[in-house]
Amino acid sequence: MSHFLYDAHAHLGTEDERRERAEKGIVTLLCGTCFQEIRKIEQLAGADGRLPSWLIPTYGLHPWHADKEQVEEFLPVLEQCSIIGEIGMDSVWCSVPLDIQEKVFVLQLEYASKAGKPVILHTKGQEEQIARLISRFPNTYLVHWYSAEYGLADYLKLDCYYTIGPDVWWNPAVRRTASQVPLDRLLIETDGLGAVSWANEAGGRYAEASGALSVEKTLLRSAAAIAEIRSVETENMLEILHQNFKAFLALGKLQP
Ligand SMILES: [Zn+2]
Repeated sequence: MSHFLYDAHAHLGTEDERRERAEKGIVTLLCGTCFQEIRKIEQLAGADGRLPSWLIPTYGLHPWHADKEQVEEFLPVLEQCSIIGEIGMDSVWCSVPLDIQEKVFVLQLEYASKAGKPVILHTKGQEEQIARLISRFPNTYLVHWYSAEYGLADYLKLDCYYTIGPDVWWNPAVRRTASQVPLDRLLIETDGLGAVSWANEAGGRYAEASGALSVEKTLLRSAAAIAEIRSVETENMLEILHQNFKAFLALGKLQP
């Protein structure tokens, strides 16, 4: 039986990766994290000026680029999409001063809350601070690849959605997220095949066969792992994940 498949968070990736998404009709929330990436996404539009049907753009000035671009210049770009992100803060993988990251993040949160556009969050190392900040801006939040050992309770209080990362088959912290969030708030993502490759290698320490590098196989492996964690048949979990995605897109007035 074939299923509707989607990827609730990914990046541009290679041409091969995009071809797989197109050929298999994997509806993808594709992130543009800086001006340069957004221009590349725009170039994927056809002669009619429309983006391919598998691609739903989500734009946001990423914390890694927070000191390279002017957020005031960036804000108008957000008007072009119905879902904002990924945005957030990061004290693990980036050295941009946190006060700059916070300013950029808060201005975008403010815009999204006023515009009623859901937000995809990048929370690495700043989980507690971000939970505090977003509680000031009523909105729907999607917490992307939550992998902290602590702090999830803050987000559960805010009724967020969660994309479970592609390492759910081995990473205990990600498995804990998958086990603790409400069933109707679960989504799946790859974060792009570059991230999957990295996560597979890390998982190699835990398992012999980490699986081939394909968007479809990665998503199906995640769905199966989440199904096992939640004691639900994989078929049923795929249907739950599909319904959750539809519900999330509806918040951005979009359809899969
Ligand atoms: Zn990402």
